[in-house]
Amino acid sequence: MKITKAKVFVGGPKKNYVTLKIETDQGVYGIGDATLNNRETLPAHYLENYLIPNLLGKDPRNIEDIWQFFYRGAYFRRGPIAMAAYGAIDMALWDIKGKLAGMPVYQLLGGKSREGAMVYAHATGSDLEDLMESIAHYVEDGYKAVRVQCGIPGMPTASYAVPEKKGDTKNYITDYSGIRPNLEIWDTEKYMRFMPDALAEIRARFGPDLHILHDVHHRLLPREAAAFAKAVEPVNLFWMEDPTPAEDQDALKLIRQHSTTPVAIGEVFNSVFDCNKLIENELIDFIRVAATYVGGITPLRRIVDLAGLHHVRTGFHGAPSHSPISMAAQHHVNAWAPNFGVQEYLVLGTPECDALFPSEHRMEDGMVFVSDAPGLGVDFDETEAARYEYQPGSHPVVRLQDGTMWNY
Ligand SMILES: [Mg+2]
Repeated sequence: MKITKAKVFVGGPKKNYVTLKIETDQGVYGIGDATLNNRETLPAHYLENYLIPNLLGKDPRNIEDIWQFFYRGAYFRRGPIAMAAYGAIDMALWDIKGKLAGMPVYQLLGGKSREGAMVYAHATGSDLEDLMESIAHYVEDGYKAVRVQCGIPGMPTASYAVPEKKGDTKNYITDYSGIRPNLEIWDTEKYMRFMPDALAEIRARFGPDLHILHDVHHRLLPREAAAFAKAVEPVNLFWMEDPTPAEDQDALKLIRQHSTTPVAIGEVFNSVFDCNKLIENELIDFIRVAATYVGGITPLRRIVDLAGLHHVRTGFHGAPSHSPISMAAQHHVNAWAPNFGVQEYLVLGTPECDALFPSEHRMEDGMVFVSDAPGLGVDFDETEAARYEYQPGSHPVVRLQDGTMWNY
């Protein structure tokens, strides 16, 4: 069996999805997702110029060897662009293997550990009342877990992931008006004064059963993050996400020494070597890696197994930048993973997106039920894809009030 053709598509409805389609001499094909948010053309070029010419003629059933060939063969290893490109190939090969076996991918991983996998939604508000309404909407829809992000009084601009004003529904992360980013101004003191009390009010309003998550989005210094984690302990958060920038892993020690608030990190990690020490030293509670950015299902499975040895549960990244293909890959891993925690899930469900990526995965009452179709259980319509092209876009950048650059 041989790979005969592979093509890359960039585009989608209000998104620049990077989709890889691998075809074989037996008529079976597989699809993968290499979308690297706001840098989408780079993994597409990497695939087209370096990887696809080496993929043609290989036996698609040798998933492990193909992964090792590209990873070890590159010499300059890792990094988000390369790993997203390997990730797309790996997902497409698992899709092919599932179709050949006549089984959904979760069966190839070891079968189901649960029927439904809990997901969390993103509630946002320009102020606390606006946020409360957003949370109530998701609770009414049956969600059991909600990430809550709130406008901070006195902050000169909207801060991470919150609308500028009440009722604003524009895409709050990526702005497709051009490649030059918008500016957000950040003030740590205002955030630290406001957010712990706001989280306490949310807990009081919605009671003990709702899983409340909050994303600090790398904005705090280690000591500030430790103080924040300690201050919000009575709220009993499901997790505090990305309290400090991920490069300084020792920062997590300081947080651990001062608080029992669960910590989730890893959405920008590219390999097991970005998180093995955090897992082995039990400095985190949830690992946030994504199938795309760590190079596909093959390495993701290894990270999940390492995490399981150290009581670390999964909480894979699922921002709107992930296409339904990588979300499907994660649905299969989530169905199997014995140490599953939660899945970030933003309802993409527009008719345009469903037409581009027909899928039998199903969401109900805040849970995802994985498709039983052979392979990944999601398809890609090339005729629909022809309607779209790459649109330059950017997420904001962040400065402090005095102009100092800060972490988005
Ligand atoms: Mg995050």
